Amino acid sequence: MHAANRNLMKFETLAIRLQTAQTGEREHSTPMFPTSSFVFDDAEQMRAVFADEEEGNIYSRFTNPNCTELEDKIAALEGTDDAVTTASGMAAIFASFMAFLKAGDHLISSRAVFGSTHTILHQYLPKWGIEVTLVDPTDPQTWNDAVRGNTKMFFVETPSNPGLDIIDLEAAKSFCVKNNLILNVDNCFATPYLQQPAQWGADLITHSATKYIDGQGRVVGGIVAGRKELITEIKKLCRSTGPSLSPFNAWVLSKSLETLAVRMDRHCDNAEKLAQFLAQHPQCTHVRYPFLDSHPGAAIARKQMKRGGGLVTFEIAGGLEQGKRFLDALKMLSLTANLGDTRSIATHPASTTHAKLTPEARVEAGITDGLIRISAGLEHIDDIILDIGQALIMSEQ
Ligand SMILES: *Cc1c(COP(=O)(O)O)cnc(C)c1O
Repeated sequence: MHAANRNLMKFETLAIRLQTAQTGEREHSTPMFPTSSFVFDDAEQMRAVFADEEEGNIYSRFTNPNCTELEDKIAALEGTDDAVTTASGMAAIFASFMAFLKAGDHLISSRAVFGSTHTILHQYLPKWGIEVTLVDPTDPQTWNDAVRGNTKMFFVETPSNPGLDIIDLEAAKSFCVKNNLILNVDNCFATPYLQQPAQWGADLITHSATKYIDGQGRVVGGIVAGRKELITEIKKLCRSTGPSLSPFNAWVLSKSLETLAVRMDRHCDNAEKLAQFLAQHPQCTHVRYPFLDSHPGAAIARKQMKRGGGLVTFEIAGGLEQGKRFLDALKMLSLTANLGDTRSIATHPASTTHAKLTPEARVEAGITDGLIRISAGLEHIDDIILDIGQALIMSEQ
C-alpha cells in the first residue's frame, strides 16, 4: 500500500490513492487477482505463512489482494483500524452478529431496519437461542427498558430503509457505554462520505456495498469495519464459514470508491431538489428527507451527517391504488429492488416488498399504503423531476 502519508490525506484522496503495491508490470490501476490460492517459495515459507509468522496470502476464502485493498480503503474512510469484506451486505450483518452472540445472549435492535435484517432477527437468532428486542429508534427512553443482564449488542440503521428514521449515534453510544454493549451501525444509506459512525464511538459499522459503494448497480458485496480485535473475530468466523467476497466484486467496489465522493454529492444535490419539488406538490404528503426541516430527526441528521443522502420518501394522496398507477406511469425511472444506483429508482413497498403483510402489520413496520421511495440517481435533475411530475399527474384519475 502507498500508505506513507495516509494520516495526512483527505477522504477523496485516500479513496483514490490507497492501492495494492505494483506487481512489477508497472500497472497504474490495480489489476484483478482471480486466483483461488497462492504459491510459496519453499516449505519453510509455507510453514511461516500458515503459522502467521510471516504475512502472505494462502487461499482466497481467507484473503485476496483485491479484498484486502477494499478493506484497507474502507477502514481508512470510516476511520477504523480494520475492515472485512463479505459476499453481500446481509453476510456482513449476519457475521457481525454471529461472531459475538451465543445462545443465551440478548440483542437490542432498532425496529427500523432492512427487511432481510428483520428476518435474521425474527426467524434465525431466536432459533439459536439468541433473544431479540426491537425498540423505537427515535425514543432513547425505550432503549433502557429493553436492557437485561444478558444484553450484548445494540444494532441500529441510520438513516433507515425505507422509512429514513434517524438515530442519534451519540445517544446510542452513551447507552452502549452505560450498559457495556457493542454498538453495531448499518451505515449503508449514508456511506462513510456522509457519516462516520466510528467518530461517535460505534464499535462495528456494516455496509451493503451493493448500494452506493458500487453505485452503478453491478455487483453485490458487503463490509464490516471496526476496531482491530473485533474485526479479527469476524475474519476468523468468515475464514471458516466462507461468506467471502469474490476478487472480481472486490475489484469493482474498490474502483467505485474512487468516485464515491463526487457521486454522493450529486446524489444529494438531486435528492434535495426532488424533496423540495415533492414538498410543494398537491399529490404528495409526508415528504421525508433527512435534511428537510419538517423531518423529525433533522437536527440530529445535521449533527451527524454531512448531507442528507440520496433517498426521498413521500406519501401519495390516493394510497395503494394510486401508488401502483404512479409506478406504471413512470417513463424513465426504473422499477427495481435496488437503490444507490446512477439510475433513479422508484419503489412502492405496500404493493411489492411488503405486499404479503396485513395493512396493520405494514403500519407497524412503518410502511403505509401510499409510501413511495425514490432513490435519486445521477441523471439530470430536470429529467428526474419531469418524469415524476408527469407520473403524479397521470396517477391522479
Ligand atoms: C440492501 C441493504 C442491506 C442488504 O445488503 P445486500 O447487499 O443486499 O445483502 C442491508 N442494509 C440496508 C440498509 C440495505 O439497504
